[in-house]
Amino acid sequence: MAVVEQAESSGSERRRLRLSSPATLVAIGDFEVQNAADVAASVERARKAQPGWAALSFEERGGILERAVRVILDRQDELLDVIVAETGKPRMEALATELVTSCDALQFYAKNAKRILRDRSIPLHLLKTKKLRITHEPLGVVGVITPWNFPFVLALNPTAQALAAGNTVVLKPSEVTPFSGRLLEEVFQAAGLPEGVFTVVLGDGETGAALVEGGVDKISFTGSVETGRRVAEACGRNLVPCTLELGGKDPMIVCADADLRRAARGAVYGAFANAGQVCTSTERVYVVDEVAAEFTRRCVEETAKLRQGPEGEFDVGAIIAAQQLEVIEAHVKDALAKGAKLLTGGRRNPEHPGLFYEPTILVDVDHDMDVMRHETFGPVLPIMRVRDEDHALRLANDSRYGLNANVWTRNKHKGTELARAIESGCVVVNDCMITYGIAESPFGGVKESGIGRVNGEAGLLGFCQTRSIVIDRFGGGSEPAWFPYTRRKLERIRRLMRVLWGSSLGRFLS
Ligand code: NAD
Repeated sequence: MAVVEQAESSGSERRRLRLSSPATLVAIGDFEVQNAADVAASVERARKAQPGWAALSFEERGGILERAVRVILDRQDELLDVIVAETGKPRMEALATELVTSCDALQFYAKNAKRILRDRSIPLHLLKTKKLRITHEPLGVVGVITPWNFPFVLALNPTAQALAAGNTVVLKPSEVTPFSGRLLEEVFQAAGLPEGVFTVVLGDGETGAALVEGGVDKISFTGSVETGRRVAEACGRNLVPCTLELGGKDPMIVCADADLRRAARGAVYGAFANAGQVCTSTERVYVVDEVAAEFTRRCVEETAKLRQGPEGEFDVGAIIAAQQLEVIEAHVKDALAKGAKLLTGGRRNPEHPGLFYEPTILVDVDHDMDVMRHETFGPVLPIMRVRDEDHALRLANDSRYGLNANVWTRNKHKGTELARAIESGCVVVNDCMITYGIAESPFGGVKESGIGRVNGEAGLLGFCQTRSIVIDRFGGGSEPAWFPYTRRKLERIRRLMRVLWGSSLGRFLS
């Protein structure tokens, strides 16, 4: 049973892949794997289109991004049909996480790119005879490589940022969800994006590797740690900058003073939304002893209400990639073999032939188990009792990952202090996962969860070359440090140093 299989190649030199829906296992189409020559042609087209695109004003580029929002609004049912067929996620989830976030991202960068990226003159603290201008120029052609868990928004969001900054983009979506990536091309075409500004190349790792080596000016990669490492190695060799948005093992800390009703609902949503296939899923819970029983009871109660299925009204969808199902099963099996106790779930859903794993809660877990150490990326909520918040913090930080985290307490000051102490790129207090959906919030990981940030000001700047232009203000025949070097000049500079950094008035002025 596989969602992606090799298909017979009809005489072409390119391989073909065949896709099935993970929810129904019904075939949904096949496609050709584009090779290095195809990628080179797309990069070439993007290269030719880039100067013209960069020459447009922020308003003109923003106008096209805003038209893309209207295309999404008008064609939302058609887009949802494709996303749902490829991923088996609930329609409501696809709408709320893929389309709503996409519309917001397009609108946000259309409206805000100019404010963030416009030239700035910075008054200098010391050299009053010079003027500094800081400009943000597009990098050129950006290669965007994306995973299968949110195939539409994870492709659209970095693309929107790169385009708003004046770059052109070649996107390589996951081979598990290629048609959602191709939708994006249709959306931008309908919005009037000029030819070559955005191109999609379809394929698997071979196509992705070709894009990384394809002479682009930046790689924006979202995916696993293992592939991210390979991408970073190639980028390092080619001296091409890359942003790596990688995996996570997000901890949740539940303090004794947490609102347990909200925290339990947040845990269940954080662990089971998108069937746990979110880079910011809650993957491990540390709850302080005195409220652990009550919190766990509530989690089990909330989980019992969840409906799973391939169609109609349901809450928890399919496991999108067949190989992920094996990881999930292996993590649960390993935990149970090492003494964990299963409170609910723990198996494939026998009612559906598709790739469904039941929402699962484990207790009596510890850090010797894979389920607490490696990314599960499935609907599994392991809950561990801890003595106190310090104990929770130590365990939360005992991880090679650091993408997102969440902390639950009625004391917001304490929540913020705990958030600061967690080794993670992003932390949420009294909510979960929301970070990626907030356009202003820089998003990215520490440790093995990645390098660089997307979203907001930091994200946009990541798609630019920041340049400095220094302009002399007054002219004149020479400058104090120019030739000739004389004893007199040396003494003058020494005096200046004493005044500037050796006196309190100087320190105040400098
Ligand atoms: P993956 O690493 O297997 O694949 C990601 C993409 O890389 C795919 O398009 C794939 O075809 C391509 N690829 C494979 N080999 C390549 C190579 N050698 N060179 C270039 N590209 C190559 O990841 P996946 O299984 O599709 O996605 C799941 C992972 O993504 C999880 O670890 C998840 O946590 C992570 N993720 C991270 C974020 C984030 O923002 N940090 C968001 C979503 C998912």
